[in-house]
Amino acid sequence: MVPQPRGVPRWGTAGLAVLLLVLAVSCGGGTIVGSSPTPFAGQTPQRTAAVTTTRVVPSPAAPGGPPPAAPTLAACSGDAPCPLVQDAINKIDAHRMNDHVRALTAVGSRDPRHAGHAKAVAYIKEQLGALTYYGWKIESQRTTYQAIPLENIFASIDGASAAFSGHSLPRLQPAAQGSWVLVSAHYDSIANRTPGWRPAVDPAPGADDNATGTAALLEFARIISEGPRESLRGRIVLAFFDGEELFYKGSAAYVQTLAKPHPYRAAINLDMVGFNPIADRLDLLWYTSASAALRDRVVATEKRYAIGIQPLNPQAAPDGNTIMDAAPFGLAGIPSIALTQRYGLPDATHPGNTTFHTVNDTPDKITNPRLWLKAAKLTLAVALELATAPD
Ligand SMILES: [Zn+2]
Repeated sequence: MVPQPRGVPRWGTAGLAVLLLVLAVSCGGGTIVGSSPTPFAGQTPQRTAAVTTTRVVPSPAAPGGPPPAAPTLAACSGDAPCPLVQDAINKIDAHRMNDHVRALTAVGSRDPRHAGHAKAVAYIKEQLGALTYYGWKIESQRTTYQAIPLENIFASIDGASAAFSGHSLPRLQPAAQGSWVLVSAHYDSIANRTPGWRPAVDPAPGADDNATGTAALLEFARIISEGPRESLRGRIVLAFFDGEELFYKGSAAYVQTLAKPHPYRAAINLDMVGFNPIADRLDLLWYTSASAALRDRVVATEKRYAIGIQPLNPQAAPDGNTIMDAAPFGLAGIPSIALTQRYGLPDATHPGNTTFHTVNDTPDKITNPRLWLKAAKLTLAVALELATAPD
């Protein structure tokens, strides 16, 4: 149990939302300007050439013979665990995630007004850039909020876009509109609950909030590269959103760029998944009835792979308590779900992380690496089941 610091209010998420709303109003609100065009705006995918030039490598064991059979597309169906998904989630490396958290917190602050922000951007791009060999496309979307520059970072991959030519890849079409799966985490941080905190110079380590989710996405990119990419039917987009702590301005700006009908069949968000000294609890936030099927799928997937999250709490968050990056997607009618360690007030299964949004949200506050790993497994399992499904 983490002791409650004296004089620090035990903010529930809802209470925080009210506070943030008050602050937003008192600041006069703000508007997104200068949103750059995005390649994810629903245009025709631009990787047709890479898709249609599938290279078939003759088997060394049978020179001149027929090419080896294409890898089996392991579509997941029914209630049985899908081997491809099971294998992928088994590969999630908690030590690698921890290394990412150490790097992301070592920059001091990822607040977009702080010099550490650019270092975090560089780190994320460096990690993703090392995987472009496998067919990942790395892009940025820049926008501003109240003159504060924000940068969303995207890594996207289609099964058929894989650049690695050492395998015989199945001949697939580019991911169709409507088949895309978005997995997001915000990488920005804030510490405005620390009295006197100055955004441009003071620390905002944001370990639990949300280096935990950011690190998980970086690990997903590595794992998808090592195998599942060959079986993707739909595009997977890993979104590293900025400005969530400024009222999810990064994700909101992105949703505004999406064409209609929306290209995404699901948007899954990870935010604060490493603190809970008393239970392996996760809350699933959903926003409209359009997300009900996705919510039920997440619950079923947790059971299918026996991930062991207990309790798993689906909760509707349909109104102003929309403080996570899943919100703009859900409210736009895109099936959307947020995985977080707690939504609401402290209770018997969550004591409340009093260090979030303070200078003390340091890596040692990730008190439940087991929960962190389970949240990562569930997120990747849902994303891969969706992205490898034939429909
Ligand atoms: Zn957060």
